[in-house]
Amino acid sequence: RWLRVKQRLRAELGEDIFASWFARLDLDSITLGTVRMSVPTRFLKSWLQSHYAERVLATWQSEDETIKQIDIVVRSPVIRPAIAKARVAEQPAATGERRSATTTAPTAASGDAPTGSPLDPRFVFENFLVGRANTLAHAAAKQVAQARRQDAVLFNPLYIHSGVGLGKTHLLQAIAWAISAQDRKVLYLTAEKFMYGFVSALKTQTALAFKEALRGIDVLIIDDLQFLQGKSTQVEFGHTLNALVDSGRQVIVAADRPPSDLESLDDRLRSRLAGGLVVEMGALSEEIRLEILKNRVNLARTHHPGFDVPAPILTFIAETVTHNGRDLDGALNRLLAHSKLTGGPVTMDIAELAVRDLIRPQDMKRVKIEDIQRTVARHFNVSRSDMLSSRRTANVVRPRQIAMYLAKTLTLRSLPEIGRRFGGRDHTTVLHAVRKIESLADRDRTLAEEIEILKRMLVE
Ligand code: ADP
Ligand code: MG
Repeated sequence: RWLRVKQRLRAELGEDIFASWFARLDLDSITLGTVRMSVPTRFLKSWLQSHYAERVLATWQSEDETIKQIDIVVRSPVIRPAIAKARVAEQPAATGERRSATTTAPTAASGDAPTGSPLDPRFVFENFLVGRANTLAHAAAKQVAQARRQDAVLFNPLYIHSGVGLGKTHLLQAIAWAISAQDRKVLYLTAEKFMYGFVSALKTQTALAFKEALRGIDVLIIDDLQFLQGKSTQVEFGHTLNALVDSGRQVIVAADRPPSDLESLDDRLRSRLAGGLVVEMGALSEEIRLEILKNRVNLARTHHPGFDVPAPILTFIAETVTHNGRDLDGALNRLLAHSKLTGGPVTMDIAELAVRDLIRPQDMKRVKIEDIQRTVARHFNVSRSDMLSSRRTANVVRPRQIAMYLAKTLTLRSLPEIGRRFGGRDHTTVLHAVRKIESLADRDRTLAEEIEILKRMLVE
């Protein structure tokens, strides 16, 4: 029956559509009138549900009247099996030697112990390639990661800055992974998470416990400090920084600019940040870019064994994508999406398409904001009018932000214009959305892939 259902879908929808969306739909079980099928990604699942659910059900019913409903699920962890588990504060020591006094998360009993932002399992020292641009930052990071609890703290705070995509987050998380395997308590937080933690602690009147918890750790790592906003959060961060540094605990910070350029921070905080070691990381050399790509392909292959990129294509990408590591990832994500959707080999033509400015300028003229809104709304199963409304529930907020992000990256419209087209929002709201999605996609591979696929759908 399953075969017949598939054949009918193929005949009715055509080979192309079938190959894109149904080729990897598997039958899991049929019980009590429910057909359970599975696909490898969340994206495919929601696409099939929003576009083809009725048709699939009808096709099943025409083969078997007892079938009442269908259920599409995502097959076991495909994309990022380790991330969900990887929260520093909860990370069990790899060696099992952690002393019990330090394994308990800070003030676990208070209910408001800060938990770290998730760590990407790929971002470890072993995968970090050292070149001229980052020798110093890498050496400092290693020192800090290897220091023992009783060692004098050398560079405190350690402040790493660089343009986007040049390895700050990777290096910071490598430190966090290394330390979480020792007997020191480490907390890795994005500035946003820090803000969020502090603000919600204020709301629940557990701010004191939150502060105490923060000060009870050995190493505090804050990523993307340029996003630390709000007077009270900044004051709180200043206190935390002082308390930690003064008692010989390590603080590591990354930002996209040097301390002197963090305009919104107050002078004292800025000079405190500048008072440790400040290192800049520069652009990645071509050799390093090539190595990063090779590394990425190997990692991707552990989840998608069929994926392969021939050496000349890798060289081509390393030569063409010069600005940053994130675009290297973007290019590879495109190739991966292509290979997953079509099952075909990666050819030079496809690679050229994937890197051509990453997004070709002429495409930017073609993509319409309405199309972005419609496509994203459909993809997330919300209505376009909800997306443009003032509703703030999580299920519309995220799609709205993704649509704004795509409007910014795929069209030439200005932020105020985009704001107007999204129900008359302010340009700062759009800016916030763009940054939010950038920083989320940075950590969340599934989201990054979804966005890549949405872009392909809009641009092609
Ligand atoms: P940033 O935080 O500075 O914006 P990331 O750390 O997120 O940059 O780096 C972007 C991508 O480039 C990541 O996938 C990262 O692993 C990769 N990358 C950057 N620099 C290096 C490096 N030196 N070695 C290996 N990968 C790197
Ligand atoms: Mg980063």
